[in-house]
Amino acid sequence: MNENHQGGCYCGQFRYSIAGSIESAGLCHCENCRKAIGAQAVAWVLMKKDVFEVTKGILNRYKTETGAWRGFCPQCGTSVSYESPKRPDEIDITTGTLDNPNAFPPKWDAFDDEKLTWVSKVSEE
Ligand SMILES: [Zn+2]
Ligand SMILES: [Zn+2]
Repeated sequence: MNENHQGGCYCGQFRYSIAGSIESAGLCHCENCRKAIGAQAVAWVLMKKDVFEVTKGILNRYKTETGAWRGFCPQCGTSVSYESPKRPDEIDITTGTLDNPNAFPPKWDAFDDEKLTWVSKVSEE
């Protein structure tokens, strides 16, 4: 997974590139993601901040009750990023904003205990 990847928000005002490796890809079932993004589960790719580069526009950031920052396009509202103070050198990017999301299928489930009953897991246990 050591390539150059691009992505951006729905309206195209915010664009980014990833120059380097994506550490991992997973599906989050937590209520926090569900509410913030308005989806039944959210696929994320995790990487070091130094491989993530903004190529166009800016994100607005919203601070969650857990102290993390969620970044979204100020124009169209697409959720793009998640930064946790627990992992200060990392940034998580929504898989759905990548231009090639099929390249990063989620490999693990996070917060299984908050998973909706009608949502399938991507991992087996
Ligand atoms: Zn946008
Ligand atoms: Zn989550």
